[in-house]
Amino acid sequence: MTNKTIVLTGAGGVLCSTLAMALAKEGHRIAVLDLNKEAADKVAEEITHDGGTALGVAANVLQKDSLEKAKQTVHAKFGACDILINGAGGNHPLGTTSNPFFEMDDLKNTAEGFKTFFDLDADGIQFTFNLNFIGTLLPTQVFAADMVGKDGCSILNISSMNAFTPLTKIPAYSGAKAAVSNFTQWLAVHFSKVGIRVNALAPGFFLTDQNRALLTESDGSLTPRGNTIIGQTPMGRFGEPEDLIGTTLWLCGNGASFVTGVVVPVDGGFSAFSGV
Ligand code: NAD
Repeated sequence: MTNKTIVLTGAGGVLCSTLAMALAKEGHRIAVLDLNKEAADKVAEEITHDGGTALGVAANVLQKDSLEKAKQTVHAKFGACDILINGAGGNHPLGTTSNPFFEMDDLKNTAEGFKTFFDLDADGIQFTFNLNFIGTLLPTQVFAADMVGKDGCSILNISSMNAFTPLTKIPAYSGAKAAVSNFTQWLAVHFSKVGIRVNALAPGFFLTDQNRALLTESDGSLTPRGNTIIGQTPMGRFGEPEDLIGTTLWLCGNGASFVTGVVVPVDGGFSAFSGV
């Protein structure tokens, strides 16, 4: 895999900015797409500063016209897209319960902000499904059109551990990532005749801004949930963004030329461990 135009969405964020930088070091042209243009520009500047080729582009993965506009910008600067990494995603507090289990007294709990299954908000759930699933589908519609019939093209989606088995408290995010995994398989089959491979990463637990408050206390020690995760991760640590690089280079490169429709856990053994 050399000299490709690679578009990454959500690449102003923690995980995909690391992937963007690693792919730039391999000599590719990197389009750093993000809703947050400032964050995208910062990543692109860092890549350029290190001798790579990159461009920060504002794009909302939920708006097709915004993506079409981003595509024009990418075409003008780098040409057609060869590889798309669908990295934009995340959860919403309104689709999250306060406790992992529903208990007998929960309906009597009047504490402010306390949320059971019965308080889940359809808007929060819809936000999460849209961001993760529609936010994968629309960029694929826009950028995969560049790839049809060309050699060496592929799409990499970002799923999650909770797609295999849902995590407590986050039903919307778990369901939305399960949809991303399922869509990865569907699209791999659908595009199998036109040379576009489609795969996904399923990262385990990486400490990022999205989950820091859930997993660590203000003094840096682990919350009970953080401790449970580490206890359930045989390798005994959170992932570092750099842990995703090798699998990304493999899935996007020639070494994976006959690999399509797989969702690869990068999780320190979390998904293999029964806990016993
Ligand atoms: P992050 O919050 O650091 O990055 C997400 C980026 O997406 C942000 O820069 C944000 O501005 C951008 N974004 C949000 N809405 C957007 C929109 N509508 N259009 C375009 N960009 C938008 O998150 P991260 O931890 O780097 O996560 C990257 C991906 O990995 C996400 O899909 C996330 O669900 C997934 N993931 C993360 C973990 C983890 O432990 N952090 C684990 C499994 C999967």
